[in-house]
Amino acid sequence: MTQADIGLVGLGVMGANLALNIADNGYKVAVYNRTAEGTQAFMEKAGHLKDMFIPCYSSEELVANIKAPRPIILMVPAGAPVDQQISVLREHLKDGDILIDAGNSDFHDSNRRYKELADTPFTFVGMGVSGGAEGARFGPSIMVGASEAAYGRIEPILKAISAKHNDEPCVALMGPEGAGHFVKTLHNGIEYADMQMIAEVHEVMTKSLGLSIEEQAKIFSKWNEGPLASYLIEITANVMGVIDEESGKPILDIILDTAGQKGTGRWSAVEAHLLGVPATGIDAAVAARCMSASRSLRQEIAEVYPQLDETLSWEEKQEGIDACESALIAGKIAAYAEGFAVLAAGGKENGWDLPMGDIARIWRQGCIIRSRFLDEIAQSYDENPTLESLYLAPTIAERMKDAVPGLREVLCMGISNAIPTPALSSALGSFDMIRQKRTAAYVIQGQRDFFGQHGFERTDKDGSGYHGPWPAGGA
Ligand code: NDP
Repeated sequence: MTQADIGLVGLGVMGANLALNIADNGYKVAVYNRTAEGTQAFMEKAGHLKDMFIPCYSSEELVANIKAPRPIILMVPAGAPVDQQISVLREHLKDGDILIDAGNSDFHDSNRRYKELADTPFTFVGMGVSGGAEGARFGPSIMVGASEAAYGRIEPILKAISAKHNDEPCVALMGPEGAGHFVKTLHNGIEYADMQMIAEVHEVMTKSLGLSIEEQAKIFSKWNEGPLASYLIEITANVMGVIDEESGKPILDIILDTAGQKGTGRWSAVEAHLLGVPATGIDAAVAARCMSASRSLRQEIAEVYPQLDETLSWEEKQEGIDACESALIAGKIAAYAEGFAVLAAGGKENGWDLPMGDIARIWRQGCIIRSRFLDEIAQSYDENPTLESLYLAPTIAERMKDAVPGLREVLCMGISNAIPTPALSSALGSFDMIRQKRTAAYVIQGQRDFFGQHGFERTDKDGSGYHGPWPAGGA
């Protein structure tokens, strides 16, 4: 039997779809799943692509059925399963083989694995894959952390299976070590903020504009033709349009209000804190998912603090709808600005020269945060590869200036009506802070010197370590 071009371990949702995608592109795949039933079930569903697969029932068999040097993709849950698979496979791998972890791994783990495996005959690659099951099957966005040599060898397959934007493959080398998984983590952080902000605007439209879910479905569809055009806006319109077969109600009225999370959003927020880069919109989106999960506590607290009797609303419905669109544009810009700022800082911290323009480019198709707006971000980085903040890019600054008044209106409406808008509020708070020539941090410096003699700098003299003439009680 002809040997396979590539191997794949883990035939769950992502692995099975990725294997079918690879086969569809003319590469023969040796497949292996921890439990044999998984491999058998996959082969039964492989349809016309069946002959493109070699089902294997042990790691040894998998390795023996791939042409050397072998690329092998791991598509298993992040954490211990990846280490377990590496330790089993490394017994069989030879010179030049490439082991690719394509799950949602913590980039710190990928850094560690890359270094630990540097002295083995094979090479480790940490690869972020975005786009869910559909992306895996028909073209994901792929963020690769690898040596240039290893990337060069797997690039043809990755280009073939990736999403395409105007015929450009949505795959690129992000840097060595865990650079690919780091970029994927921030992709997911931005995704969390984007999703939360959409949910917040929906709630404002429901409670202060009195718009039904069906009406909102139409509004989201229309927004998807303008500057907000993106996968998340498109699927929100779709989800809003679906009626639950059992109850006859819109499906969104039936879905329980507790959002799940697997960790990448939280990792983004934690990393932002560790790097000292504000990512308050992302942070608030992670916190909002946690609060959504505290359902019984929310029921109790809601009893103590009943909803407001009177609610404010816009005089003109269309005015409110337009403000909501602007709020989402401003919120989206803030989420991207935060995400790219964390990417830049993380790249610097880890010694990676992250290709910021390429990141925007490969996110334009295949991934969950794909949006028209990424074209403007890519162009901004092309014009200025060392752009310090997206807020400084001329086209983005123009959009932000236009959209922020609408965001303020929506937040006034939300706050006055006790409608939670944590991600939008936090994003605006950060934006308002970063646009100040003088912040109120002088108060904090005064307090710090008062109680701890920490010293401060003066606006009227050079030097540091000045102290205030504090009255008794100061340190
Ligand atoms: P599934 O739960 O659908 O599949 C997990 C697969 O991993 C199964 O084949 C399972 O085998 C195997 N597995 C589980 N534990 C081990 C282990 N200890 N050793 C070997 N194999 C094991 O997960 P997904 O396909 O959704 O996710 C796979 C990876 O892709 C994860 O890292 C996930 O975060 C990431 N990802 C998922 C996305 C999604 O939308 N679902 C999007 C992007 C990335 P068995 O059949 O024996 O249980």
